[in-house]
Amino acid sequence: MTLQEQHISFDPDALRSKYRLERDKRLKVEGNDQYIEVKGDFSYFVEDPYIEEKITREPNTNTYHTVIIGGGFGGVLSGARLREQGLNDFRIIEKGGDFGGTWYWNRYPGASCDIESYIYFPLLEETNFVPKRKYTDAAETLDYFKILSDKFSLRNNALFQTEVNEVKWLANEKLWLIKTNRQDSIKARYVIHANGFLNRPKLPAMKGINDYQGHTFHTSRWDYDYTGGDSYGNLDNLKDKKVAIIGTGATAVQCVPHLAASAQKLYVFQRTPSSIDERNNTETNIEWFKSQKSGWQDERRENFEGFLTGNFTNKDLVNDGWTEIFRTILGGLMKNGPSKLVLLGWVLSAPLNRNFYEDGLRTFIRNKFMKYVSREDINRKVEIVDFQKMEKVRARADALVNDPNTAESLKPYYRQLCKRPCFHDEYLQAFNNDNVELIDTDGQGVKEISAEGIIHNGQEFKVDCIIFASGFEVGTDYSRRCGYQVSGIGGITLSEKWKDGLATFHGIHSKGFPNSFFYGPGQGPMTANFTHSLDEQSAHVAYILKQLDSKNLKYVEASDEAEKGWIDTIVSKARNMQSFQESCTPGYYNNEGKPNTNPANNTYGGGALEYFKLLKDWRKNNKLLGLKTH
Ligand code: NDP
Repeated sequence: MTLQEQHISFDPDALRSKYRLERDKRLKVEGNDQYIEVKGDFSYFVEDPYIEEKITREPNTNTYHTVIIGGGFGGVLSGARLREQGLNDFRIIEKGGDFGGTWYWNRYPGASCDIESYIYFPLLEETNFVPKRKYTDAAETLDYFKILSDKFSLRNNALFQTEVNEVKWLANEKLWLIKTNRQDSIKARYVIHANGFLNRPKLPAMKGINDYQGHTFHTSRWDYDYTGGDSYGNLDNLKDKKVAIIGTGATAVQCVPHLAASAQKLYVFQRTPSSIDERNNTETNIEWFKSQKSGWQDERRENFEGFLTGNFTNKDLVNDGWTEIFRTILGGLMKNGPSKLVLLGWVLSAPLNRNFYEDGLRTFIRNKFMKYVSREDINRKVEIVDFQKMEKVRARADALVNDPNTAESLKPYYRQLCKRPCFHDEYLQAFNNDNVELIDTDGQGVKEISAEGIIHNGQEFKVDCIIFASGFEVGTDYSRRCGYQVSGIGGITLSEKWKDGLATFHGIHSKGFPNSFFYGPGQGPMTANFTHSLDEQSAHVAYILKQLDSKNLKYVEASDEAEKGWIDTIVSKARNMQSFQESCTPGYYNNEGKPNTNPANNTYGGGALEYFKLLKDWRKNNKLLGLKTH
């Protein structure tokens, strides 16, 4: 034990070995292959339960200037930015029955967002919309999509209930051909792939999964016809039903309290407990909101991002759990003692680069304090802060859950940034309800399903309904997640091009795939505030398209040199977090215990703000540098 460790109320060595033990019992050789792809027999898990009326229409065989694939925030922002540039000949193709993306699909009871609504909702100054609370919910977010799409007249440009299944470059015509499940053969000069992230539900591969005769669905396709109620709860149809939920990630944490309140009996099958901290939502102070000066949202978003990437000022505008991490760490280090280094964590929706915040934090500390402390000392301090934070989280389970065994089972034993921390003020208390039972599988997960329920440890739990809160594909092939293959010049597919590692320019263009723009595969920005990066990238793409049109150019492709240069940038800025990732309990943050070893498959290591500035400077230069055009 170091001198510093002698002043703390826990034994770091004991915690280190406990964490190791909990990780080891969860490591699986199968990695991502422990999950089933939702297709074939399982494709009903991705059917759309929210469509009110099935659209019928003739196949579309038109040619457009631009096709945008995806009607979530990425697609809607792209449409808005194209309109702003006067580029009106576009179509947005969306699988769902309306705009909304993630929020269209994830409208399970309790669904809400942990990023402050004042920075999460894009274009608030343009729409004059005032979010009701600091943290918004699914219903308000879907309402906001209506406001955005009305503001930019996007509805008539949308093809809803339409699933793209092939995108192919037509070399002779220099156009893209987009085929859909509605027999559309649409052509477009440009295609924007705004497919989103965490969009493809996954199921655990369990023995007997096909045998279950009861009702079942995935949380991202909530069956309100079966449960009753809406995203605010009141699931009245469950009052005489026995329900099982599999999974205890961020989604389950939000819907379990509602299931607990309504079901006759609820079994929560847990493999790994989430870290559950306080949420503390507040009503919007309308006077304060309305008094904000022009440009406030950009300033606020940048201020927030600055805190997360170690570029912050003294003014903390968002002032929440995210930014507090950095303020507190700084305060603690200034005093050169670990006692003040609390609250490490609060890293909520950090789905892409799960190392980013921890890494940003280390970088910040290194930059500012390297003179005074060694790298080893910093790592140790950060670890102690993490232990302290997680001890508090574990103590919260003891404080809120009546049964000591259940409380113990609900305690997370891993570093905070190994998994996505959760924030909820009713989840832990739900286990005090007489009708709720936690079935802790001690890291093993559910392995078997019978015709009537779930079998665990030789016991059968008979249930009327099994709800899968088992998450979404991460780390699988990009085209598989999109649901369609893209074939570029010479017929080469994206899967073939990226099989040994991503290759893009700015994370947006890829050589061999001209006139295409990608928002999601990687080598782009990482921010917890996803809509911020979608906003920046969509403005960037709209700028490029406007430039091409005004110069009467019809072709744009990343040059070989530019793409190689960008890969070098990504690799040189990638930070090696392998050992941290390996020490983590498995999950989608560390590729199910098999961390990425290819430095090209990273996000931009300089941080989102640096990336946004890089794009801005590139636009200012006004030469479309790195792009071949004609
Ligand atoms: P996750 O992938 O986070 O969770 C899946 C859950 O299923 C985990 O608890 C996992 O356990 C469990 N699981 C998998 N296989 C089995 C099995 N065989 N038996 C039992 N349990 C099993 O998916 P979510 O939908 O919960 O969340 C996805 C992401 O969406 C979040 O990380 C977040 O980024 C975002 N989100 C954000 C929200 C917000 O802003 N508040 C709310 C909801 C989601 P294990 O941990 O052991 O792998």
